[in-house]
Amino acid sequence: MKKITFQILVIITLLACNVYGGVIRSHSTPENQMQQPKPKLVVGIVVDQMRYDYLTRFDSKYGEGGFKRLIKDGFNCTNTQFNYIPTYTGPGHASVYTGTTPKYHGIISNNWYDKETKKFIYCVADDNYLPVGTTSESGKVSPQRMMVSTVTDELRMATQMRGKVIGIALKDRAAALPAGHSANAAYWFHGMDEGNWITSSFYMDELPKWVKKFNDSDIAESYFKTWDTFYDIDTYTESGSDLNNFEGGFNGQITPTFPYDLLKLKDYNNGFDILKSTPYGNNLTTDFALAAIEGEELGKDSDTDFLAISYSSPDYIGHNFGVNSKEIEDVYIRLDKEIERLLNELDSKVGKGNYTVFLTADHGAVDVPAYLQSIHVPADYFDSTAFRTQVKEFVTKKYGSSDLIESISNNQIFLNRSKMALLDLDLDDVQEDIVNEIINYKHIDKAYSATTMSSVFFDNGVEALLQKGFNQKRSGDVLYVFDPAVISYGKTGSTHGSGFNYDTHVPLLFYGQGIKKGSTVSRFEITDLAPTISALLNISFPNGAIGKPIEAVLD
Ligand SMILES: [Zn+2]
Repeated sequence: MKKITFQILVIITLLACNVYGGVIRSHSTPENQMQQPKPKLVVGIVVDQMRYDYLTRFDSKYGEGGFKRLIKDGFNCTNTQFNYIPTYTGPGHASVYTGTTPKYHGIISNNWYDKETKKFIYCVADDNYLPVGTTSESGKVSPQRMMVSTVTDELRMATQMRGKVIGIALKDRAAALPAGHSANAAYWFHGMDEGNWITSSFYMDELPKWVKKFNDSDIAESYFKTWDTFYDIDTYTESGSDLNNFEGGFNGQITPTFPYDLLKLKDYNNGFDILKSTPYGNNLTTDFALAAIEGEELGKDSDTDFLAISYSSPDYIGHNFGVNSKEIEDVYIRLDKEIERLLNELDSKVGKGNYTVFLTADHGAVDVPAYLQSIHVPADYFDSTAFRTQVKEFVTKKYGSSDLIESISNNQIFLNRSKMALLDLDLDDVQEDIVNEIINYKHIDKAYSATTMSSVFFDNGVEALLQKGFNQKRSGDVLYVFDPAVISYGKTGSTHGSGFNYDTHVPLLFYGQGIKKGSTVSRFEITDLAPTISALLNISFPNGAIGKPIEAVLD
């Protein structure tokens, strides 16, 4: 009897290990796992605003050494989806690296209304720290609002802090969140009249020599040149006409059409900041990433290092020119060359077979609604100012107070709790009244109260996406969702943030040490990425991870 009980216990324990660990791979014994060499360097690449279809739409323009090398010699998860709302840069980078969603990591948006301080806060702003490497105020940054550990944190702990972790991106949040809390450094680009890579005193008090050397060079200045199409513009058959009504363009140039003389335009577009909105922002990111590999000697010893790169320029270009523009086609043709340059350098500096790369995005983007309307696909613009006025009028009429609404932001309504207590109002009643009122508004497709979000479990549909993006402490009292392809945005350019496929479907490529060749159309979620890297490195999962390792990609 005792023996049977023991056997059952063993079976249960084994099952539990499989469920929670997921690290145990059926075809390999623990011994040969131990022997499997670990990559000397993991390079995580996030492309800001890269839709999955950019891999296929521009396929005929890509060379063999960039995206195609990752696809052909690596593993392509062709149906990888973001599994929460809102699909923004801050939450996106946090989710890629923590394997969980805003519900747990707490990065509910880029900026959000803070219920405690009654102010808007920025996801990586931190007044406890000082800018390093700039005379501006823009470097007061830390990842501390992210409440869970990242795969990069887990690597640091697993190597007793010997494995180095560096985060690099033009945007501070795209560098700081991926690098995690225990990173050696995160660097981002300060444009304006400086044009330097900077950091914050969260990481260090002074820039390392190699960063100073890079900033002292004229590499950033060298990109003040003309941006024209990489190939003859007549061959750009995968995008709309260059001149149309759906694009923004730059200050100082009448039409949003090639070529763009950046040396001339920089004076009308915040100096070095204009580079962010051109493909040269990607080049500058690769330049700096390669300097980091050299300067920090990444991938040189037996402890795995991690370089987290995010290419921010595609997002700026998408916001300005839209998904269907010649400018988007050009930035991806050029980014393909940058990926090739990066891989070639990794081959020579770290060695083919010694490193592992993944490539994904932080969110996708919607086609410009005005363009969709022109081809009769349902799409529109939401008038947020009118909505705000109407909601306030409703509340005033119903409860006799105009200041019950504290904030309407990120498709959430925040109520004034103390005012409600004063008026003796019931929270659930007010939330439900507002839900029932706003669902009648044009282009509001769904609305839910915070009480519903925290008391009912949704396992699929838009409700599940909202729930995974809902943080009980930080999110608002009422959440609402627009109709498909309806955005609160200007009439030119693309944006993102929804739970629709155009925003949630992103590339996910793995390549290199420990990665199989192949592809799958099976659905994976963005939260599976970090656990997959944890399994590859045989280290702990990020502490809040909800995803599972993608077994098919692991060798
Ligand atoms: Zn964006």
